[in-house]
Amino acid sequence: MTQSTAYTTLESTVYASKSIADCKVLVVDDEQSSCLLIATILSDIVHCDTLHDPTNVVVYCENQPPDLILLDINMPGINGIELCHLLKNNHKTSACPVLFITGDGNADTQNQCWQAGASDYIRKPVVASTLVHRVKNLLQSKLRLDLLTELTFKDQLTLLYNRYYLFTEIPTLLKRLSRDGKSLGVIMLDIDYFKGFNDRYGHVAGDKCLFEVAQTLKEHLPRPQDSIVRYGGEEFTVFLPDIPLKAAGCLVKAWWRLCGNWPLLMKPVRWESSPSAPVTW
Ligand SMILES: [Mg+2]
Repeated sequence: MTQSTAYTTLESTVYASKSIADCKVLVVDDEQSSCLLIATILSDIVHCDTLHDPTNVVVYCENQPPDLILLDINMPGINGIELCHLLKNNHKTSACPVLFITGDGNADTQNQCWQAGASDYIRKPVVASTLVHRVKNLLQSKLRLDLLTELTFKDQLTLLYNRYYLFTEIPTLLKRLSRDGKSLGVIMLDIDYFKGFNDRYGHVAGDKCLFEVAQTLKEHLPRPQDSIVRYGGEEFTVFLPDIPLKAAGCLVKAWWRLCGNWPLLMKPVRWESSPSAPVTW
């Protein structure tokens, strides 16, 4: 298979960030025997977690997002269709596909499943082969979509978010924060005289330097909801939802102190020669 063909079909493992075996499936069913049966059938292809109490599912998925949810319908507390609506209306869990597994074959029930956002539907008692192949197909589609999303929103040199992410996702974040009466901290970072670095050490070293800077900034982001965009060549923008101004200032100072530990970056141009102050806000 040529590289261009692999790229077009997205089937080559070269482009896959993870395989089906690395995926995590969550089985939600109030009957322990049913959970055990499903987990046993799928044990050869994927890792399964099980939950018997449907009221815990949303919080569980927010904290440790699965790649696929297998959902029963008739459960005490909240039924599977109501739960699916909750998952699909939550921005942290909406991207996870839901496969209903139920003994309820009623046509109205099936329609309610699709309207709630189901990706697929299987009747109990399950046929092992059908369950395995449906799960494999759904996970493969999920992995391809994840990969396409990553290629769309990530800068391939630094692996940070790109400008397309900035212009499509940040406005949505702003709207959500505005609705909740919260602020958005924004920090812009720029490496002065980076052209001088490229001229002296070459663009391969320059790319390596940008990657190292980007990874260091990313590793020192304080919270999972914070994000960094590569705004331009050597310019970065950091987005910090609902953060006090003082805390954002402390973060900038901490990053600046880290600069002293980047020998590659500091070789050609000392910050004292920069026309701007090292840190301003
Ligand atoms: Mg049940």
